Parts: sequence; structure tokens; C-alpha cells
Amino acid sequence: MEVRPGTVVTFEYALRVDERVEDSTPEGESVAILYGHASVLPPGLESALLGRTSGPFRIGVPPERAAGVYDPGKVVTVGRGDFPTGVALEVGEEFHARDGDSAPVSARITAIEGDRVTVDTNPEYAGKVLEYEGVIHSVRGATPEEIEHGHVHGEGGVAH
Ligand code: ZN
Repeated sequence: MEVRPGTVVTFEYALRVDERVEDSTPEGESVAILYGHASVLPPGLESALLGRTSGPFRIGVPPERAAGVYDPGKVVTVGRGDFPTGVALEVGEEFHARDGDSAPVSARITAIEGDRVTVDTNPEYAGKVLEYEGVIHSVRGATPEEIEHGHVHGEGGVAH
């Protein structure tokens, strides 16, 4: 069976970015997703599985179909006093920023000079090709109940 909306896909994967493993299913474990409802997966992975069948896969997802292209306009410099309390002012520190009514965005401190702090609010993998490698163990049709609930029941899913 091919992966498409309305199927339950059980698979394992590793994500490499710039040759480094950034994310993976735990050794010997798989994830089960209801296709179209997999909000927990890293960007671009779910759509890259569309149309595939059981077996190994290796997929390079370009930035436009993953975290988006890198936008230099999303690098801003702010004062130390502009930071919410609880954020450690250190290069490399990640936190969530909220801009007006928009959804929270992840942000990273990339430089600190005196009172000025440079913050990059591009998504973590913006501008990067995401290399996914893994194995699809099974693809099955979802039950009407799973589709109604929007998640997988049974093995790898919700027990209720
Ligand atoms: Zn349920």
C-alpha cells in the first residue's frame, strides 16, 4: 500500500543536516503516524513520504519544501532590556519570541556586543537541505475511528 492521506505509516528515520544527525527515532524504535496529522515530525518529512511503500528510503528535502529559505531580514539586533525574563543572555541560547499577534517563533542569540544582542528568528533549519534516511515498516489503511480522532490507535499510537 502506498502512503497517502488516511493511511497509518510505521517507520523509523534519522535526520541529517550538514552531515550531522539532528534528530532520529530512538534506536530500535519506530513512530506510527496518521498521514496528514503528523504534527510531531520535523519539517518536510511527512510530505516526502507521500506515495512511498514499505522499505528503505533516502530523501533530500530542499529548504523551500522544509523550513524555508534563509531570510537575512529575520536577523535583528535588540537591547538586553528587551528580553523576557528567564532567557539567559548567551550566544547559542534558544527561546521563543512572540511578535504581536503572530504565532511564537523560535529564536537564537547569535551575537552579544555590549548592550546589543543579535537574534536570528529564522526557523532552525532555514536554508538547509534536510537529509532523511530510514525504513518504512508498514503502511495500512486507518480505521474510521482513527481518522475521526486524528491519531493512531494501537501499536505506536494512543491506547484508549
Ligand atoms: Zn483516539
